[in-house]
Amino acid sequence: MAWFYSIRFRLTATFLAIILAVMIIISLFLYNTLEHYYLNNQRESLEMSGFLASDFLIGHLSGQIDSVRLSTLAENMSRQAQARVIFTNQQGVVVGDSIRVGGLLNQTLDHEDIRKALTGETSSSVSYSETTGYQVMQVSIPVKDENDSIVGIILLSTSLEDLYKTLDDIRSFLLLATVLAMAIVGGGAVALAHRFTGPLEELTTAAKRMAEGKLNQHIEFSSDDEIGRLADQFNIMAKRLDYYTSNLKKFAADVAHEIRTPLTTMSLLTGSLKEHDMEPQQQKEFIEDLDNELERLIALVNDLLTLSRLEKNQIGKESISLNVLMREIISENQYRFARAGLELSGEMPDEELTVQATTLQLRQVIGNLLDNALNYTTPGGTVRVLLYKEDREVVVAVEDTGCGIPEEDIDYIFERFFRVDRARSREAGGTGLGLAIVSEIITKHEGRVWVESEEGVGSRIYFALPLVEE
Ligand code: ADP
Repeated sequence: MAWFYSIRFRLTATFLAIILAVMIIISLFLYNTLEHYYLNNQRESLEMSGFLASDFLIGHLSGQIDSVRLSTLAENMSRQAQARVIFTNQQGVVVGDSIRVGGLLNQTLDHEDIRKALTGETSSSVSYSETTGYQVMQVSIPVKDENDSIVGIILLSTSLEDLYKTLDDIRSFLLLATVLAMAIVGGGAVALAHRFTGPLEELTTAAKRMAEGKLNQHIEFSSDDEIGRLADQFNIMAKRLDYYTSNLKKFAADVAHEIRTPLTTMSLLTGSLKEHDMEPQQQKEFIEDLDNELERLIALVNDLLTLSRLEKNQIGKESISLNVLMREIISENQYRFARAGLELSGEMPDEELTVQATTLQLRQVIGNLLDNALNYTTPGGTVRVLLYKEDREVVVAVEDTGCGIPEEDIDYIFERFFRVDRARSREAGGTGLGLAIVSEIITKHEGRVWVESEEGVGSRIYFALPLVEE
């Protein structure tokens, strides 16, 4: 029964039902209108012939009645009107009939139309004739003398055989048109349904494959309509899901790798401590190395925790003056930078630049950028923190005169665990997650990050946040 609920079947059935209903209504209307029109025409034409003859007949019906002459008259009239013509006297007795042999001469007619005509009313009717097997139209017209008294009746009757044959032809034509219309519409509906359901079936199959874990799905369907757009969105979704999943796998592998390095070093160190007899001084050095590796591990775990918290937490924002925050952070870091032989300064406008943000997270962003400036700039260099307004954004740049970043690596430095120089980063205590955290936090604040850098000259790492206008 699945086919019964399919769009293809329901669409086709609905179209066919609609076209059938429309064709039945049109056919009935057309047939009835034509039948009515032809019958009216026939009636009017018979009545016209009768009226034309009635004046001429007054003399023949009111005086001495001559049936032979009247029958000849009826015969002549019959040829012109193409109908059987009968005359009766005022009692309804036939006094002239266009059919001579087997006619109704001298018979008294007792028919509803005759009775009506004898009261002075023109009447007409259609009835079935057993003899011809067709419908027959009869018109009865009273013949009145100058005193308005009825002297007789003219009765005209004609077979409607031709008329109904024409109407039968029309009915056959309408039936054929209905069958043709249903065939065309049915074919169209099947094609249309196929066009709709084809991509939907493809989508279902692709979604099923995704549910089975095969995320790398793509649907080949190009069209600007709703289904085309659905297919496009599906492709984008599948690509993203595939990208995120493989990223997640890569991330998990990267984390394992990052943890394994300090753990291996620690294992070697403890092994040496256990197996070799060492001087207290040498032991102290080994334990210091162990401590460094432990710190590295703790820093890594802390960064990972920060990242995972960022991914799930909705941040509560407040209005923060970046001028105030920058001044605080610069003054807090002065000593650290001076000890590393670096000059740290800030440049900012007098105008207060306010953003909506979480203070702790902004502190983390600027802190990470300053850590990098410190780690990748040799003593004697300078680090400047710039704050300015551009269009409707507040821009912060941390500029250093350090080693710079090679051009081919610039696009990757915000990726998790990416380092230009792994050994140097490790030496400086870097986890490879600092800029990934910066990018994550700024994106969460509807801002953006970018870099300008030249190898051997220095770097400028920027972030921009929407300005809160007073
Ligand atoms: P790390 O913990 O290694 O510093 P980050 O995510 O903070 O990790 O930075 C990624 C990499 O980008 C660094 O390893 C370094 O190679 C490069 N980098 C970041 N900031 C700077 C900078 N100011 N000058 C030169 N290189 C930088």
